[in-house]
Formats: sequence, structure tokens, C-alpha cells
Amino acid sequence: RALTDSEAALSGPFDLKARLLANENPFGPSPAAKKAIADALDKSYQYPFMMMSQLSGKIAAYEGVALKNIVMDSGSTPLLHAAALCYTKGGKSVITGDPSYDDLPTYAEEFDGKWVKVPLTADYKLDLDAMEAKVDANTGMVYICNPNNPTATVVDTAKLKAFCERVSKKTMVFVDEAYIDYLPDAQAATMIGQLKAGNNIIVARTFSKLYGFAGLRLGYAIAQPETITMLKKYSSAGFNISSTTLAAALAAYQEKDFLAETLKKTNESKEYLYSVLKQEGYDYIPSSANFVMFPIKMDGKKFSTEMFKRSVGIRDWKLNGKDWCRISIGRMDEMEAFAAAFKEIS
Ligand code: PLP
Repeated sequence: RALTDSEAALSGPFDLKARLLANENPFGPSPAAKKAIADALDKSYQYPFMMMSQLSGKIAAYEGVALKNIVMDSGSTPLLHAAALCYTKGGKSVITGDPSYDDLPTYAEEFDGKWVKVPLTADYKLDLDAMEAKVDANTGMVYICNPNNPTATVVDTAKLKAFCERVSKKTMVFVDEAYIDYLPDAQAATMIGQLKAGNNIIVARTFSKLYGFAGLRLGYAIAQPETITMLKKYSSAGFNISSTTLAAALAAYQEKDFLAETLKKTNESKEYLYSVLKQEGYDYIPSSANFVMFPIKMDGKKFSTEMFKRSVGIRDWKLNGKDWCRISIGRMDEMEAFAAAFKEIS
């Protein structure tokens, strides 16, 4: 199987000129978050439960949900794993797009869950109709990654809302919104409104992407209270989040100007990447996140090996039997390092 992003991040050299292999965000965390970490050290002998309640309160107020609708953990990964265990136990299946982020279904398979893969549409989006058609008596959950990793495509919001409403009556719908902060209007695209309307769905969020917290580890899920109770049983229920990370998140949550600046820099680097690809005669899938997929013209493994030799880390991918590259969006100097290496080997 392909490596998950966290495995890929571990597998390459750490001193790359351009580290564009794990959809990290080199523009964060914010100066306020870093200062909050330093300030929190004096009190780091204390258990961080008060801070966790404070942060949950901030998130609940912003999203218009109650505290009992939120569970946090050290990244969204433990919550993806908790949901996999909880909803595919006893040999139940998880339906996902193909390709999509494969951590949750891979984890489900490591226990006794089954993985049902549904090919993407011709324009590389999740095929919601085909996914719905696959729901049967053995389905334990449907996993929707929106924007989708690795294609960086989004599905139509109205269509996804209707999907959540219908499909959640038959099975658990898990909407992974790890990259939603990269959309121009995340509040318009989120499925949290569907949850507030009473539907039985789980929305997962992470601080790892636009907030730049991948190494600090913080994520959360928003769901109906009974679902949160279940997820807490299968996870740490927040016990493994450090006080320094919580302090950073309290300082950084909805720090609008800094986040807007990060988004602007990401989009500048992305436009530069598009222009390099066009110049070199390559297509790409227009991206709604901090990474871009494009088809390459040589064997994928050879391509990534040659890029690594030039100190540029990217991921190769098989899609529809062809070789593709997924490149995360980095700082401009990293994109320039990619461009120089790419021109040498393409
Ligand atoms: N969901 C998606 C779609 C991802 O791409 C990732 C990481 O790349 C994660 C979840 C997990 O992120 P974290 O555990 O850092 O929150």
C-alpha cells in the first residue's frame, strides 16, 4: 500500500531543501502561538484540563455548538482511528473515494474492518452518488475527505449537504475537513451546519494544516453527544494533548490576520507552481488545498528518487494506472528548489 502522509514524513531525509511531501505548512505556527508556548512552560507541571475546556469553549462558541459536541486529541489522527475502530468493528465496512486519504480505512483493515473503494469522477472529485449506491447492510461508515487528499478537489457544497442528510440516516458519515481552511469561505463549505440540523455525522478538523501545528499535534471532532461519548471511549479523550500545544492553540485559534496572510503566501506559491508546470508542458488538477497533483511523464518511483537526490521531497502516486506527483505547497524558496530540480529531470 502507499505510505500515509505521516509515514512519508518520517521516511525521507529531514534536511531537505524543499520538504514538500507531507502537506505541512511552513508558514506557521504564528508568532503569538510561539510566544504562548514559551509563556506556558512555567506552568507546564500542571495537568492541562482547564486549558482544554477553555479551547473547547472557544471552538464551540465560534461554531455555534455545545461543549458536549466536541472531542479533542493530539491531532485528528487519533480521532480518525477511534472512528475506524468504533464504526467498523465486527467486520463492518468503510466506504471511501479512491484515491482518498487512506489512514482511516487502513487502520480499520488492521483490525477487522472492510474497505470499499469507489473511484473518483472524471474530474477527480469524490463520486458521491456512487458512494451512496455502495451503502448496504454491512456498511459501518462512509468517509468523505473534503477537500480530498491527494487530489485537492472539493465536492459541491449543496450536494454534500444533501448527501449527509440522506446517508446519515443509514450509516455514520465522517467528513474529514483537514484542509477546509484553505477554501475562500470555510464557514460556507463546512458540514457542521448539517450536524447542527440534527444529522448523525462526524466532522473532523485539525490545527496541522493552515495553523501550521503539525508538530504540535492538535485536532478535534464535532459530532452528536452520543457519538462524542463513543469517540472518547476509543481515544485519549484529550488526555494526551500537552499544555504547551493548548496554549499555542488558544493564542492562534481564529487569528484572522495571520491565517489570511498564510493563505495568501500559500496561494502565491501555488500560482508560481502552476506557472512552472505550464511552462514545462504539464497539466495539473486545480487545487483547493495546500498541495497539487499533476501527471508525470516517467515512472513515479524514478521521479521521486531523482527529486530526493536533488534534496526535494515530493510524493509519487498511481492514479488511473498512471504516474502522478503530489507536491505540497511550501515557501517560495522551496518551490524554486522544486522548479530547478524539475527542469533538470523533466
Ligand atoms: N486528514 C487528512 C485528510 C490528512 O491529510 C491528514 C494529514 O495529512 C490528517 C487527517 C491527519 O492530520 P493530523 O493528525 O495531523 O491532524
